Amino acid sequence: MTYLYHEHSWPQIREAAARKPVCVIPCGTVEQHGPHLPLSTDFITAGMISELAVKQVAPDALLLPTIYYGFNEHHMDFPGTVAIPGPTYIDYAAHVGLSLARHGFDKILYVNGHGSNRPFLEIAAREVCNRTDAFAGLVSWWSLIPREVMERTLTSEMPGGVSHACELETSVLLYLRPDLVDMSKAVKETGFRPGRYMWRDLRVSSPLVFNEQWSRFSRTGIQGDPTLASAEKGRVIVEAVVENLVGLIRELREREILPRVDHHQP
Ligand SMILES: [Zn+2]
Repeated sequence: MTYLYHEHSWPQIREAAARKPVCVIPCGTVEQHGPHLPLSTDFITAGMISELAVKQVAPDALLLPTIYYGFNEHHMDFPGTVAIPGPTYIDYAAHVGLSLARHGFDKILYVNGHGSNRPFLEIAAREVCNRTDAFAGLVSWWSLIPREVMERTLTSEMPGGVSHACELETSVLLYLRPDLVDMSKAVKETGFRPGRYMWRDLRVSSPLVFNEQWSRFSRTGIQGDPTLASAEKGRVIVEAVVENLVGLIRELREREILPRVDHHQP
């Protein structure tokens, strides 16, 4: 039996839902990733990492079609970016999970590949939890990199070296889809001026949460140092992330959803 949700027929999905697999929904975006990476970078990483993990835990998980577009008004000064407004994105992503809950699935995991999707996917997942008896959550793939692997593989300056189209994303693409990477166009650019309370780095988030139009501080669309990237770094990182994602899916699969209790009546 396939692990791909959309290759089932409806009677097969009815049977699959009874087994209570975890529904994994990759979430990416279509946006500029500097002159050396494709617009598809974030949906490639979310989609391929999700698929590598789901394959290992099937039939305890099903892979949903990727949500390709995301929230990225802040990259619209660069050609190619497609931006979906926040409320539309929340509603759209929530309704994927809400539909799954109506068919009897009770564990829904959004796997995110695009930093700016995070606040919206969190609300989408909470809508699913609030409006159904299913449990939904989101995880961004880079948050599954063990600290030790992060320190061993990434050598970019801190903070600012690991942000966007950087050593991390470029390494992962060099491993997953080297045919789409043009390292001859990779340049270091760390134009965002960090402050004491604000910086851009995926390794440690800054106290101030913010985002602004990227053309204000980046000429190439890069924030970080992709010249330090390698396929070998990408392999080590992807393997560690997939291992953790497998662990997370298994934990969700086993987790009991406790009943609600209405305390209005004594
Ligand atoms: Zn990205």
